[in-house]
Amino acid sequence: MGKLFSDEIQHLMAEFAETKEALHKAQLELQQKMEELKISNERLENSEHQLQQKVEDLSRNEKAMLNIIDDVRELEKKLKKERDMLKAIVSSMGEGLLVVDRNHRIILMNQMASVLLRITPKETIGEDIGNIFNVFKGKDGTSSAKTCLDCLPVQQVIKEADIINIHLEDDFYCQDKLGKVFPVSMIVASLLDVSALKENITGAVIIFKNVTKEKSLDEAKSGFISIASHQLRTPLTSIRWFSEMLINGDAGDISDEQKHFVERIYEGAERMINLVNLLLQIARVEAGRVRIEPAPMDLKRLTESVVTTLQTQLKEKDEKIEIIALPEKLPEIPMDEDVVWQIIQNLLTNAIRYSQVKGIITIKIVFDEKRKELLYSVQDKGIGIPKAEQGRIFEKFYRADNAVQYVPEGSGLGLNLVKKLVEDWEGRIWFESEESKGTTFFFTVPLEGMKARKGEVKLKV
Ligand code: ADP
Repeated sequence: MGKLFSDEIQHLMAEFAETKEALHKAQLELQQKMEELKISNERLENSEHQLQQKVEDLSRNEKAMLNIIDDVRELEKKLKKERDMLKAIVSSMGEGLLVVDRNHRIILMNQMASVLLRITPKETIGEDIGNIFNVFKGKDGTSSAKTCLDCLPVQQVIKEADIINIHLEDDFYCQDKLGKVFPVSMIVASLLDVSALKENITGAVIIFKNVTKEKSLDEAKSGFISIASHQLRTPLTSIRWFSEMLINGDAGDISDEQKHFVERIYEGAERMINLVNLLLQIARVEAGRVRIEPAPMDLKRLTESVVTTLQTQLKEKDEKIEIIALPEKLPEIPMDEDVVWQIIQNLLTNAIRYSQVKGIITIKIVFDEKRKELLYSVQDKGIGIPKAEQGRIFEKFYRADNAVQYVPEGSGLGLNLVKKLVEDWEGRIWFESEESKGTTFFFTVPLEGMKARKGEVKLKV
């Protein structure tokens, strides 16, 4: 009985140990499951967090997109406003505006251009500018240009970025569709596509103006000048003549003080006579009354002769002039010596006057075989011409502020005459200048030279 009991206990204990083992295993499994559950939970939490972040990102992106759309709309509005303003400016401009593409076809025309040329945009857009904008130099079309495009520098500004001003004194005229001729001033500029990386010329812009009023004022000015100068010359010559006699003692001895005063009278009369002569010359050239007698001429030799007459002025300022001819032996061209003399003398006198002491003036005469012309230039390192005043330098009586300060006396007439004379032989004249650095004036002489003219007076040197 005792053995039976102990077997039972042993059996129970074994069962108990088994159960305990199973329990322990179950507990371990449970623990493992719990662990896995915890990990999944963490992962879930993580994913939820990521999801939340994504949602936040999305909402942020949405806001940014909406902002961009707003900006684009704003920009669109601004662009429209600017385009409308530009349209309003173009159509209300007091000047005619024509825009052409690289093939000279008109792509835009404003209202004023339409009024001035008496033509509708419908008839114009897509047309060659040469058929629409009939421009020529000289009222009766006296220039050698055969077509309007020979006169208009459109091709030039399409080839190379440039802005060309044609002023009242350039004497350009335009004929409208019904045949009426009116004087014009204009600006011809390259049309640039600045959006491209490199500046691209896509055509040309022409802004032109009917200058009939300004022209008649200019003509009235010329008429007045002509009358006034004729009337002034006789009494002035008498003043100079009689004051010279007084200085020479022809009317008896005069005191030193009296002599000093009379000398001032003589100088003043001399200056006035020079001015009147210049005015008369301009009036004669304008009226085409100057006689032209061309004869073969070596420009370098003539320049040397002019320089000899300027020695006193050069010595006074200790300045030097160098003359370079390329090639050394220039072709001889039929020119009127008096006319060329006048031009060279004016340009050199200016170069001397508007330079500091000890300056060097360089004259270059270069034969351009391709263009069949001589290019004459006078370079100084003087006071220069301020940018803002460069457009008016060839106007009658115009003097730049710095020049007035540097040399108070001066008429502002010399360059006006020079330009008229150069353009009379169909040469070109222009300058390059920088204030305080210097100025270079250029003019051209075509190989065929000047044409003879039977005017009633010679140009006086
Ligand atoms: P003037 O010399 O009598 O004033 P011009 O007609 O010869 O008249 O010249 C007009 C103006 O052009 C001058 O007053 C001056 O402002 C400017 N100018 C001409 N030549 C030069 C030069 N070489 N350097 C600087 N300015 C010049």
